[in-house]
Amino acid sequence: MKTDRATQIAAVDTQRCVGCGYCLLSCPHDAMAMADALVVVHESCTACWICLRHCPTEALSRADRGDHHADRNAC
Ligand code: SF4
Ligand code: SF4
Repeated sequence: MKTDRATQIAAVDTQRCVGCGYCLLSCPHDAMAMADALVVVHESCTACWICLRHCPTEALSRADRGDHHADRNAC
C-alpha cells in the first residue's frame, strides 16, 4: 500500500494498548510518547508504519489525520 505521509498518521486503540512501550523503541522519528500508561502519537509521525509491526496487541493502526482524535489516542 502506498504511504501518504501528508494525510495519514499512526493511531493507538486505547482498548488494546497495554503500555509495553515496544512501539516507542521502534519509532525512528521520536514521534511517540507515554501518557497515563498509554502511548500517544505526535503530529510529527511520518506514517512509516514501523511501529505497527512491533505492537504485540495490534493496538496501532493507520488513520487519517483529520479524524484520528475522535476515538484514538493521539496528540
Ligand atoms: S508510523 Fe513511523 S513515525 Fe509514526 S509513530 Fe509509527 S514508527 Fe513513528
Ligand atoms: S506496542 Fe502496542 S501495546 Fe505496546 S505501548 Fe505500543 S501501542 Fe501499546
